[in-house]
Amino acid sequence: MSRFVDQYGRKPVVAVFAPGRVNLIGEHVDYNDGFVLPFALPFRTIIVGDVVRNDSHAQTSSVTSCNMISDHTATFTCDSSLTKGEPVWANYVKGVVSQYVNDLPPGSAFEAVIMSDVPLGSGLSSSAALEVATATFLEKLYKIDAISGVTKAKRCQLAEHTFADMPCGIMDQSVSAMAQEGTLLLLDCRTKEFKLVTVGSKAPSGTPLPVVVICNSNVKHTLSGSEYPDRVRQCKEAVAALQRTYPEITALRDVTLEQLEFLNICDADSDAKNHVTAVPTSGDFVEKVAVKGSSRTRHTAARGKCENKSEGDHTALVSSMSELAYRRAHHCITEDARTVAAAHALEEGNYILVGGLMTQSHLSLQYDYEVSCDELDLLVLTALGIKGVYGARMTGGGFGGCTVNLVRADCVDELISQLRQTYPACECYLSTPSSGTDELPLDSAMPVITGAVSRYGDSFGDDTDADWLSVRVDGVVMSIVDNPWITAASVAAAVAVFGIIITRRR
Ligand code: ADP
Ligand code: MG
Repeated sequence: MSRFVDQYGRKPVVAVFAPGRVNLIGEHVDYNDGFVLPFALPFRTIIVGDVVRNDSHAQTSSVTSCNMISDHTATFTCDSSLTKGEPVWANYVKGVVSQYVNDLPPGSAFEAVIMSDVPLGSGLSSSAALEVATATFLEKLYKIDAISGVTKAKRCQLAEHTFADMPCGIMDQSVSAMAQEGTLLLLDCRTKEFKLVTVGSKAPSGTPLPVVVICNSNVKHTLSGSEYPDRVRQCKEAVAALQRTYPEITALRDVTLEQLEFLNICDADSDAKNHVTAVPTSGDFVEKVAVKGSSRTRHTAARGKCENKSEGDHTALVSSMSELAYRRAHHCITEDARTVAAAHALEEGNYILVGGLMTQSHLSLQYDYEVSCDELDLLVLTALGIKGVYGARMTGGGFGGCTVNLVRADCVDELISQLRQTYPACECYLSTPSSGTDELPLDSAMPVITGAVSRYGDSFGDDTDADWLSVRVDGVVMSIVDNPWITAASVAAAVAVFGIIITRRR
């Protein structure tokens, strides 16, 4: 707010927010038309702004992000000539503007300031928060009505595809656009329909509620940089291979384990592929009983069917599916089943089952999908060794970022202290499901965010010129932006008096 006043010499007329999210389970399946179970975080991206009122800048929009240390201001024109470019962060904003160009009055231009307390690049979806906040900002500023949550999410997804070269699924934008406080979203990424899931809503009365603890490893391994698009491509290859035998399939969502195993058993007869024993259990589930390396398995029923096929058919199938494609597909198929089961168990209050499914999900992401990393594996392993932890897994795209843990409320302190002891660079947040994007009252003491986060955080540095501070108290996160009265001394006093622990971020 004050940054806008400083920069443009007047007060903003619109303020909006959109949240980041954590995905409890259902990873890397949104772009395979699968099921996901995320919820919105109390971490938010806020945009304040107004239309351009200075005639000399009539056609030029200007956006400033307080989260950027350099290149924090981007300028562009809101028309069909809009293209991606530098600074890179502004492409998320420009991409969304390009999706709304036809809804804007000709010659539209705006000025806006962005501030976020969603950790950037940590798998908590700061990108979707920025996109959805931009979409809501445009809708409120230009009074664009009748854009549904689904349409908004789709536009923001398209913005990320076209302006950030990220072929992401629809999960992040959907939850940021449509989440409701107190609930998770069981989202069908094919139909975009969702069911609101309330933890323990069908549990026997008196069942204590568990707590979700997010643990940020604060690492990001970029490797080649194309890991995510590679997984998207590998899944498409698996679908193409499966379609030769099952032409009705359009996405991995449509494939059963039996169909996958049928192709698998028809493939080359190498014993080296038998690292894991998988046993079909109830329904369409496969539960790993031993996990080492690939989950490629033999399935007796499928073998019988395959042997009945003609020589020609067999050869076609053998050449159709690589080991890699098999493992990627195996993750997606089992993850869909885990997610639906977890949503049900969460309502029923069967947190032991939910936790088990989360842990299986991690193993599947670690070995079949290969998107975990040493730091995440260590955090998961540490958590699983602690009493009261139902389950733990990496969350988000992987190769760094966060883990998500489901834990008994009375064991949270022990979990966080053990995680911090094993991995001192980590940061933990306790979090409850929060609401999706909305307008903020301009005269509110902004931004005050309610919702449980953490009383744990990094210690406060002694800089006096912090851009903004995120104050974490039991049950409340309060972000204070550009407040000149915040000095090391005043913060130290607050810590001493209220027991607040402060995290400083730029
Ligand atoms: P995640 O979505 O998990 O946080 P991504 O790599 O998908 O990670 O998106 C992070 C990128 O989004 C940042 O590097 C930056 O370019 C952009 N971004 C997100 N939030 C902001 C913000 N508040 N200001 C500027 N850029 C942002
Ligand atoms: Mg992202």
